[in-house]
Amino acid sequence: MRDIDHFIGGASVRGTSGRFAPVYNPNTGLEQARVQLATVEEMQAAIANSVEAQRSWREVNPQRRARVMFEFKRLIERDMNALAELLSSEHGKVVADSKGDIQRGLEVVEFACGIPHLLKGDYTMGAGPGIDVYSMRQPLGVVAGITPFNFPAMIPMWMFAVGIACGNSFILKPSERDPSVPVRLAELMMEAGLPAGVLNVVHGDKVSVDAILDAPEIKAVSFVGSSDIAHYVYSRGTAAGKRVQAMGGAKNHGVVMPDADMDQTIADLMGAAFGSAGERCMALPVVVPVGAETANKLREALVPAIEALQVGVSNDTAAHYGPVVSAAHKAKIESYIEMGVSEGAELVVDGRGLVLQGHEKGFFVGPSLFDHVKPHHQSYQEEIFGPVLQMVRAETLGEALKLPSEHQYGNGVAIFTRNGAAARAFAANVEVGMVGINVPIPVPVAYHTFGGWKRSAFGDSNVHGPEGVRFYTKIKTVTQRWPTGEAVVDSSFVIPTMK
Ligand code: NAD
Repeated sequence: MRDIDHFIGGASVRGTSGRFAPVYNPNTGLEQARVQLATVEEMQAAIANSVEAQRSWREVNPQRRARVMFEFKRLIERDMNALAELLSSEHGKVVADSKGDIQRGLEVVEFACGIPHLLKGDYTMGAGPGIDVYSMRQPLGVVAGITPFNFPAMIPMWMFAVGIACGNSFILKPSERDPSVPVRLAELMMEAGLPAGVLNVVHGDKVSVDAILDAPEIKAVSFVGSSDIAHYVYSRGTAAGKRVQAMGGAKNHGVVMPDADMDQTIADLMGAAFGSAGERCMALPVVVPVGAETANKLREALVPAIEALQVGVSNDTAAHYGPVVSAAHKAKIESYIEMGVSEGAELVVDGRGLVLQGHEKGFFVGPSLFDHVKPHHQSYQEEIFGPVLQMVRAETLGEALKLPSEHQYGNGVAIFTRNGAAARAFAANVEVGMVGINVPIPVPVAYHTFGGWKRSAFGDSNVHGPEGVRFYTKIKTVTQRWPTGEAVVDSSFVIPTMK
């Protein structure tokens, strides 16, 4: 059995805890490797290594740091196919989608290549007699990222590309379910010229996460994962005096107006609901048609489209999506389908019990469609994170607007319409952090910023873009006056003002 080791101080490091988590190939359902789970002491040793590495990394000028990012980008492009295959073999998403996962992370690396410009401060000459004021953004020191299974390339890059470019050293604690790609990314950063210890990857579970949250040397923590754990990380991290941004779960709605371009909308809904087996925090698992006629048209078109979907192994180029990540997750998704039925929703297409010939043990779940889902259903209120599309019918746009606005999650939402005024009002009033107008998956581009509202994000800071630079730096403002040789005797006990 292959062991997946930590990557600390620029080298592979064998764990000593004797604790491991299994890493499956979701296509076969078989355990293919095991990953080390660090002890508190191992995490502390990695943090000490990061503290040391940061002392010299912060002195490297921003343009040189950017050069590492440029080279890292080149190396990822060189290794794109191998990385995507490795990613699919542990996550299960189809290889084309794994390339998208890597590419979206790479776009944040491209953003981080602009770090010299992004770190420039402000300067005011002559703020007072002979007085100038300037501000600078300085790195925090050691920062950490704790990431989920569903984007093992993109989400680590959201975090470490910006954090490291800002002059911090970075501890990455990736998901224990698909840990190989994060290690490869760290190796490629080294190959790109990053000094040893500036990016350390420590594998683990709650023990490692708690060690990060409690370590006084770690100044900021970025977390992405499910909401209860996000809330826990936020509470414990901020109680320890850290800056924390903790992104959580989601239940994104797609509102379909009667005037929407129906063919395009169906195509968009299919990709957004079932792509990556629905295991995306920006998936669209809820569709809200406005008016009975829209609902009936939509249902009529969705059923054959869903029945035509091909579920296959992740390297099958004809497959629309692959297996889900684990047997436990497959069981959880199927239990939500059962729940929906018992709550009285109409199960129009049932994806349970799918077995793929030749891959009987793989974690495959067929696509499901529910109609007549009601807001009080628990299966609507909670995140399923699988290939299940729930239709909640609304009579008016006002009613449709209330659904995502009143939902516990507020990550993304989309409206499909040709009516600019309706779309504009919807975008202005919906209580959700990221809005798509005829765009099903409104993940903002790298130089904007990503973040949901309500239980989809704890803390008041978004990920990547200029917000990411702010998160990983602190401002220092210098007020200076240089002696001119003339005697100045103006000792004052009154607060200096600009009178
Ligand atoms: P998860 O919450 O199970 O795990 C996330 C991280 O937390 C992992 O690194 C894991 O090792 C760690 N962890 C797990 N249990 C822990 C515990 N008890 N204490 C401390 N740390 C713990 O999430 P997941 O299943 O890997 O990912 C899917 C979830 O992530 C979904 O809810 C999805 O919506 C969410 N997600 C959100 C976003 C976003 O930006 N809002 C993006 C991607 C995924």
